[in-house]
Amino acid sequence: MIQQEQSNPFLIVQQQLKEAVDKMNLPNDVYEILKHPKRVLTVSVPVKMDDGTLKTFIGYRSQHTDVIGPTKGGIRFHPDVTVDEVKALSMWMTFKCGVAALPYGGGKGGVICNPKDLTNGELERLSRGFAQAIAPIIGPDKDIPAPDVYTNGQIMAWMMDEYNKTQGGINNPGVITGKPIILGGSLGRDTATAQGCIYTIREAANKVGIQLSKATAVIQGFGNAGSHAARLLANLGVKIVAVSDSRGAILNQAGLDVDTLITYKESNKSVVGFPGSQEIPASEILTLACDVLVPAALENQITASNAADVQAKLVAEAANGPTTPEADKILAQKGIIVIPDILANAGGVVVSYYEWVQNLTGYYWSAEEVKEKLEAQMVKAFDQTWAVREKYGDVDLRTAAYMVSLERITEALRLRGWI
Ligand code: NAD
Repeated sequence: MIQQEQSNPFLIVQQQLKEAVDKMNLPNDVYEILKHPKRVLTVSVPVKMDDGTLKTFIGYRSQHTDVIGPTKGGIRFHPDVTVDEVKALSMWMTFKCGVAALPYGGGKGGVICNPKDLTNGELERLSRGFAQAIAPIIGPDKDIPAPDVYTNGQIMAWMMDEYNKTQGGINNPGVITGKPIILGGSLGRDTATAQGCIYTIREAANKVGIQLSKATAVIQGFGNAGSHAARLLANLGVKIVAVSDSRGAILNQAGLDVDTLITYKESNKSVVGFPGSQEIPASEILTLACDVLVPAALENQITASNAADVQAKLVAEAANGPTTPEADKILAQKGIIVIPDILANAGGVVVSYYEWVQNLTGYYWSAEEVKEKLEAQMVKAFDQTWAVREKYGDVDLRTAAYMVSLERITEALRLRGWI
């Protein structure tokens, strides 16, 4: 009988966690306490639509563990949001903060909606309504949201404003990160996820002997993570041969001009139709010949059904959960190095942490300071993960990253007396 591949991200993260706990011979109590989020809130958000009707949207906020510090993680607006997805994303956030040595646990939020179908006014009312609904459980020392898929700085600004109103009119920007600069955002936050990802690609490329100035890359997803990753890779001399977004995929073997493509996407809402490129089936993007593949869209993209066809030497997971456990095994057998999400895209939460620190102290850093600190923190996280992989010999970078993280989390669990 053919067993169906696991695609529920919540069950996937539990499986990944169990593997690392077992590998480290940690007591099962560690798995037992971490296998579920500590708190998951479901909210309904009634929104007055522009046509006068009322529509209720369902949203979630999951807080995985606060053993190391307040929980932290983005809010996603997407039609496919599920409670299990939000729970999984909050758990990945815990392990991401652990790898990057941040004083946080993981959180995540999501609202089932398609922002592309909402007017600006409807989007604002939904954002404010959701912030109000989760206000009792968030706060600068409780749980600090940030942007994720289809949310941005403007949405963070509305949510910060709304949260502060619920607290009697305080002015505390530290409740949320990814804000516009004028409202307490950090310089470098908009490019942080991609910048951090590029540092891990650079380090991995050095280890496996890929010369980036002669390399090619393919990027799935052309939003915050994907478009900045494309630009930063191009700045290093990497030829970006193909990219995709939710509307389709494009290819130019001679290399896409990324700056022009970003401008094109801004005015045309998609990369499709970019002059000089050829449209290809979206499903082909992940299996094109290239040195570096950057999935920067959604979960479950590299699966048992396409992993054998992946031709990249290096996969850098800018997205969360793009590779299933079955696909991980196939990629490992093929000798493909996967820089796991909890390491590859940690730059976003690292600079969110810097934003929070700046908000709490009221002292703001230069773009250079942010970049310098981010580079040091990402390189350290990469080196520690690589060292664990070398030490054990038989673990992939994903399990190694979990192990780096679990070492810190387990120590905190023990010291608090929770296990
Ligand atoms: P975004 O909303 O800015 O962009 C998402 C992009 O993915 C868009 O270009 C969209 O068209 C594209 N997309 C959606 N469905 C697709 C599909 N089926 N095929 C190809 N492209 C598709 O979101 P983002 O912030 O860039 O997030 C992307 C991924 O990166 C998510 O997994 C997110 O969790 C992760 N991430 C983001 C951050 C951050 O700081 N923004 C931090 C860490 C991880």
